Amino acid sequence: MSTPGGLQRQFYDMLMESQWWPADDLRDYQRGQLGQLLRHAKKNVPFYAERLDAVLKPNGDIDWDKWGEIPIVKRQDMVEHREAMQAKELPPGHGPTGTQRSSGSTGIPIVLTSTALNRLVSNALRLRVQTWHELDWSRIFLNGLGDPWRPDDWPQGTPLGPWGPSWVAESSAGFAWSLNSRTPRDVVLDFIERRNCDYLVSGPKTSHLLALESLRLDKPRRLKAILAQSNAVGEDDRRICQTVFGAPLIEHYSSKEGGQTAHECPNGTLHLNGEAVLVEIIDESGAPCPAGVAGRVILTPFFNTAQPLIRYEVGDMAIPGEPCSCGRTSHTLERILGRQLAIFRHPDGRGIINIIPDSARDLLQCQFWQMAQIGPNDYEVRYVPRDRGAHGDEPAFTELFRATFFADAEVRYSRVAEIPLTAASKLIEYINEYHRAGN
Ligand SMILES: [Zn+2]
Repeated sequence: MSTPGGLQRQFYDMLMESQWWPADDLRDYQRGQLGQLLRHAKKNVPFYAERLDAVLKPNGDIDWDKWGEIPIVKRQDMVEHREAMQAKELPPGHGPTGTQRSSGSTGIPIVLTSTALNRLVSNALRLRVQTWHELDWSRIFLNGLGDPWRPDDWPQGTPLGPWGPSWVAESSAGFAWSLNSRTPRDVVLDFIERRNCDYLVSGPKTSHLLALESLRLDKPRRLKAILAQSNAVGEDDRRICQTVFGAPLIEHYSSKEGGQTAHECPNGTLHLNGEAVLVEIIDESGAPCPAGVAGRVILTPFFNTAQPLIRYEVGDMAIPGEPCSCGRTSHTLERILGRQLAIFRHPDGRGIINIIPDSARDLLQCQFWQMAQIGPNDYEVRYVPRDRGAHGDEPAFTELFRATFFADAEVRYSRVAEIPLTAASKLIEYINEYHRAGN
C-alpha cells in the first residue's frame, strides 16, 4: 500500500506529465474521474439520488451529451441540504475526512466536508505551480491567510514544518509558518523580517495593503514571490508588490469548495487544473462561453467524495482564454471577474453585470474602490485616494460609470481611508446594497 507521501508524489508526477497531454487524453481522463464520482454520488449521497438521472443510466452508462442537464448546485443548497449532501460511505483510500468552514461574501457561512485525498491532490497541484515558478523549497514560507476561525496566533506564528515535497532533499531545510488572516499588517511585516521569510501566501489586495504599510513604515522588505489567492489579481497589485517587495504575484484561483482551480504559468496565463476539477463557464442560457466571453463558473471537483459537488456554482464570473504560448495544453482563463460582481438593476428592470477596467484607477487617483448601488438608480463610489491631498477626475469617472452601467445613473463619491476586507481577506468591489436590503 502507498504511503501518503508516495501517493502525493505519484499524483505530482502525473501532473508534470498531464500538463502536456493532448486535449483528447485530458478529456478521457476527466470522464474516467467524473464517471466514478457520479456513480459514487448516486449510490451514497441522498442529495444526488435523482439529480444525475439525465446523464447516469440505470445500467451505469453515462450519456455525456446530457451533462448540461444536471441541475446546478447553489451555495444555498450547501446550507439547506448539508446532511443530504454527505456521503454515507467513501471509496477506499479517500478518507479520513475533515471539515472546512467558509465565510463567503454573502454572509451565509457554509461547512464543507473534505477528504484526505482531496487535500493531497490540492497539495500536489500547489507543488506543481511552485515548480513552474522555480520556488526554492529550502527557504522560509509564510502563509498569511491562516484560518480566521482559529484563535489568534500572532505575533509568534504557528509552525507548520517543511513545505516542499518530501521526496526532494532540499525540502528538509525549508520551513513554513502560518499567521491568522486577521493578523495586523505591521505584525505580518515584522514577522517576515524576523523570520527571514522569502515567500508569502496572501490575497492580492492584502499584499497591496502590506506594500503600502511597508512604504509608510519606511522599512523595506524583500520577498522572492507572493502566492496570491482569494481575489483576482489586478495590475496595480502586481506593480506595487514588485516595487516594494521586489516580488512577483503568482495568481492562484482557488476556493474551499472547488479546491485549487487554476494557477498562473510563467507566461502569466491562468491554466485550469483540469486533472482535479471540471470547470465550466456558462452563459445565461447554460451554454458554454467561448474564449473572451464572460460567464458563470461551475465547478465539479473530482476527489471530494465526502461531500460531492457536481456542477456547483461557486459564485464567480470568469472569461475563458485562448491556448497559452507556454505549450501547456490545459485550458486557460483570460481573467477572473470574481465573486464580488453584483448585478446593478435599473428601475426599468434591466440588470447589468460589468466591471470598470483597472486602468480607470488612474482617473480617480485611487488605490482601492468599491461601487455600491444604494438606491433605485443611485450609486456610491467609495475610494481610497493614493494621495489625500490630490483629487481624481470624478466627473470623467461618472461618464465612464454611466457608459458601463446606466446612462442616467446618479453617481456620488465618498473618499475613505480604507475599504474593509471580508473575513476571507476579500475586497468586495461591486455590491448591490439597495436590492440586498430587500428593496
Ligand atoms: Zn501558459
